[in-house]
Amino acid sequence: MLGEQIIKGMAVTARNFFGSYFSKNRLTTVQYPEERLPQKGNTRQFPFLVYDGDDAEKGLRCVACQICEKECPPKCIYIVKSKDKKPDYKGQPQIYPLTFDIDISVCMSCQICVEVCPFESIKMNTEFELSTADRFGDLLLTKEKLAKPNSYYQKIHPADAAESDAVIAAEKAKAEAKAKAAAEAKVKADAEAKAKAAAAAAAAPIAPPPANPPTTT
Ligand code: SF4
Ligand code: SF4
Repeated sequence: MLGEQIIKGMAVTARNFFGSYFSKNRLTTVQYPEERLPQKGNTRQFPFLVYDGDDAEKGLRCVACQICEKECPPKCIYIVKSKDKKPDYKGQPQIYPLTFDIDISVCMSCQICVEVCPFESIKMNTEFELSTADRFGDLLLTKEKLAKPNSYYQKIHPADAAESDAVIAAEKAKAEAKAKAAAEAKVKADAEAKAKAAAAAAAAPIAPPPANPPTTT
């Protein structure tokens, strides 16, 4: 029937309008900014960098591999690598970003940087109240502004953060097992080398005692 969908839509509107006088569940709008609806689990706005522990600089997961910078379609990520290294969460020395900027006036929230990052370092934030009159000061997010603790990630995306934590814990356990196996192999190799040396010493012919020097009378 012509206009059937319009009538159906109006019926929903009318049901919510009159129903809202009797049931709060029929209220489809809130008095923003005083009231806010909870964000959905998959909400994404702009990226942020995750760090572990209390120190944003020491705990930053990013190892400045620059994959996200290369893959970002509008090229709004800018990274400068460090010359020295610091231990990562597995205890391995890694380079880190001296500079990590994202221009969120260019970012299109595509999440490709998150998908390509092999280190669970960059994730999507849910923060959306970012309007500002300072185009360059406030919309160019530096490493200091981008860094957020893992507890923040766990709060805004609990399911994804739990997956990330599991991946990191598994990698950490793998690295520890590898280090333990290497240490055990070294101890075994040292012991074998010592045993070989001892066996070689035992098998060597015993040198005859020196002849008595001639005695003078
Ligand atoms: S979300 Fe997309 S556009 Fe934004 S920084 Fe990541 S890759 Fe670039
Ligand atoms: S955020 Fe991830 S992909 Fe980007 S530089 Fe850091 S470690 Fe590499």
